[in-house]
Amino acid sequence: MTIAIIGAGIAGAACAAVLTEQGQQVVVFDKGRRAGGRMSSKRTEHGYLDLGAQYFTARDPAFKTQCQQWLSSGIVTHWYGRLAQVTAEGPQASPDDTLRYIGMPSMQAPVTRLLGNVDVSLGCQIDHIQFDGQHWLLHSNGAFIGRFSKLILAIPQQQAAALLNPVLPSNQTLSKLFELPALLPCWAVNIQVDQPLWPFDGIFFKQDSQLSWAARQGSKPGRCNAGHWLLHFTAEFSQQHLEADGDTIAQHAMQALKRLTDKTVTGQVSHYHRWRFAQQNPDYPIQGAVHLPELALGMAGDWLNGGRVENAWLSGRQLAQSILA
Ligand SMILES: Cc1cc2nc3c(=O)[nH]c(=O)nc-3n(C[C@H](O)[C@H](O)[C@H](O)COP(=O)(O)OP(=O)(O)OC[C@H]3O[C@@H](n4cnc5c(N)ncnc54)[C@H](O)[C@@H]3O)c2cc1C
Repeated sequence: MTIAIIGAGIAGAACAAVLTEQGQQVVVFDKGRRAGGRMSSKRTEHGYLDLGAQYFTARDPAFKTQCQQWLSSGIVTHWYGRLAQVTAEGPQASPDDTLRYIGMPSMQAPVTRLLGNVDVSLGCQIDHIQFDGQHWLLHSNGAFIGRFSKLILAIPQQQAAALLNPVLPSNQTLSKLFELPALLPCWAVNIQVDQPLWPFDGIFFKQDSQLSWAARQGSKPGRCNAGHWLLHFTAEFSQQHLEADGDTIAQHAMQALKRLTDKTVTGQVSHYHRWRFAQQNPDYPIQGAVHLPELALGMAGDWLNGGRVENAWLSGRQLAQSILA
């Protein structure tokens, strides 16, 4: 019988790829029009624009091997951006020898590659699930989708909780997993500016109350041309302004650029995106992945494994290996 995976981000895709390689029947559901989740680039008239993950790194030997394979087949390339940190003393170059990867032509590419041999149903939001003691029954938009031998949730913690809590309200393991929010929000804004801002390609703002990151998209192969700066707001600011409208956030972004560069910045905001569940809450404990065989249930994702693309991939693989063991 088929295993259902909800979530075609890198965690769900990595899990699906291992299970499929080992002869398991798998179907992956995602509400998005494309696979990739938070590894997301928007196609614009100026080139791709990375609104979510900006790049990824590889520390684990297995993920290094995976990146090497993607590199050889042109699925990823290196981003040799000149990085800086901005502190109270101003911008300081922060040269390091970390290899940074980006998907080619867009951030989604590695996820799409992992799902190459997998049955994927896109544009399908699973909004209701049931457990009959042995099997999971999935529903989308009032329609019954199917009955599955196992359910894997490879979606952000808060979205997993919304699906599972009505079904297993008194499960202690799940209550503990869902107690503390694992993922914090992030507003992303892209501004096309008319003048050079900084002599860097990626900037970490270490002490700013509003911005946490800025990246010159034109410094990345295949992305929007010069002048496009993608900004991320801090988790605190994003939480406080979570329900604000995009135009208000765009104004904050423009003002923040003027303040941080001390220049008369002119230009226009081209895109913004509110990520409700973006990056890891540093206080949330690392657990790898969750496998509850008695409930025919598994969970994987960055939120269980310390955040970031690499850890999401590792979490998905770890869950698949635990299911196959
Ligand atoms: C703004 C931002 C910046 C980031 N920067 C970096 C970075 O520079 N480097 C780095 O390594 N990481 C970065 N990250 C984190 C990185 O993107 C994530 O760690 C990783 O992509 C998470 O993958 P995942 O598979 O766990 O989850 P996701 O990518 O969130 O995948 C979950 C999928 O589940 C789908 N889904 C959810 N609920 C349902 C449902 N009910 N039914 C159907 N489908 C559903 C979603 O559509 C989504 O596609 C960033 C993230 C954000 C948002």
